[in-house]
Amino acid sequence: MKVPFLDLKAQYQSIKDEVLPAIHNVIENTAFVLGKSVFDFEKAFAETHNVKFCHGVSAGTDGNHIVLWGLDVGPGDEVIIPANTFIATAWGATLNGAKPVFVDCHPESYNIDPDKVEAAITDKTKAIVAVHLYGQPADMDPLREIAQEHNIYLVEDAAQAHLAEYKGQKIGGLAKAASFSFYPGKNLGAYGEGGAVTTNDEELAKKFKMIRDHGAVEKYNHEIYGHNYRMEGIQGAVLGVKLKYLDKWTEGRRRVAKKYNELLSDLEEIRLPKEMDYAKHVYHLFVIQVKSNNSENRSEKRNELQKFLGENGIASGLHYPIPLHLQPCFSDLGYNKGDFPVTEELAEQGLSLPMFPELTDEQIKYVSDKIHEFFKK
Ligand SMILES: *Cc1c(COP(=O)(O)O)cnc(C)c1O
Repeated sequence: MKVPFLDLKAQYQSIKDEVLPAIHNVIENTAFVLGKSVFDFEKAFAETHNVKFCHGVSAGTDGNHIVLWGLDVGPGDEVIIPANTFIATAWGATLNGAKPVFVDCHPESYNIDPDKVEAAITDKTKAIVAVHLYGQPADMDPLREIAQEHNIYLVEDAAQAHLAEYKGQKIGGLAKAASFSFYPGKNLGAYGEGGAVTTNDEELAKKFKMIRDHGAVEKYNHEIYGHNYRMEGIQGAVLGVKLKYLDKWTEGRRRVAKKYNELLSDLEEIRLPKEMDYAKHVYHLFVIQVKSNNSENRSEKRNELQKFLGENGIASGLHYPIPLHLQPCFSDLGYNKGDFPVTEELAEQGLSLPMFPELTDEQIKYVSDKIHEFFKK
């Protein structure tokens, strides 16, 4: 049996009859950049996330840039970012000329550890980026308290967490602003690049809208600095169709996670992901840890399991094998191995199992059987 990591074709087949006419319509109307399809999607996306303003942009990375740009983060400023995230979170700071300051993740949630944030704050700190990694919301209440106390911004990187909830509230409107990604492999994926920025602050929303489109209030009247970060019409049309199914697909992901948890819970050799009490996890990724007793090479068992699964037709992934503080591009920031032990352990032992809404019970069972077989050997 073959189990891919992700199966975008299965999803396309299920909506083909609806998505192709929507794309066709954009082309017929030659509404290639922004336009009705994008504006309709923005409105619907804001509604599903219970946030007042949403602007479609060209990618999640661009959203990370815009959010901190709109808050006037710039040279001389520091931005607190989890060491355990995809690198685009850090580009939000660096593209604005600010310095990323990393913080370790929490051993259960794998998100930024609020208890470790305070120590990273200096008089240059301007913002904290809470990343809802793997689809699980960060612990927002303590982060909000810290941000208020130090008079700094708290923003969300929600690229992996569409429709996730923190204490019953949708993410995306839980802080000053948020950015989303619609990269094809994300829980809500475009047919190309795409992203969005959301906020409940009307002034900030206006600024986001201007930055996205050359800093213009109207065509050729440029009030502030900006860039071309507009969403394409075709992406708006695709996302508009797909948004209607996102609830169903999210429940599909949760079903897969539940099944994995049931089938794998007897294995002492691995640690399963934990859905925190405050969270509704949307399982962008299902990351297990393969426990190691080889302190010289903590990745050894994990790598063997990955290889074994691959030989049996099961694809898996690493998220992320090199933490941000150990990335070559950030070597000048002066971090060392050992600085963030929780993040480093996860990088060395973490393994992402196949995760997408259309996974069948049979496929999940097969993955579980193969993992059991590996540890019996
Ligand atoms: C995917 C991702 C981004 C960047 O989104 P793109 O649309 O690929 O530019 C940013 N942050 C996180 C956490 C991501 O997973």
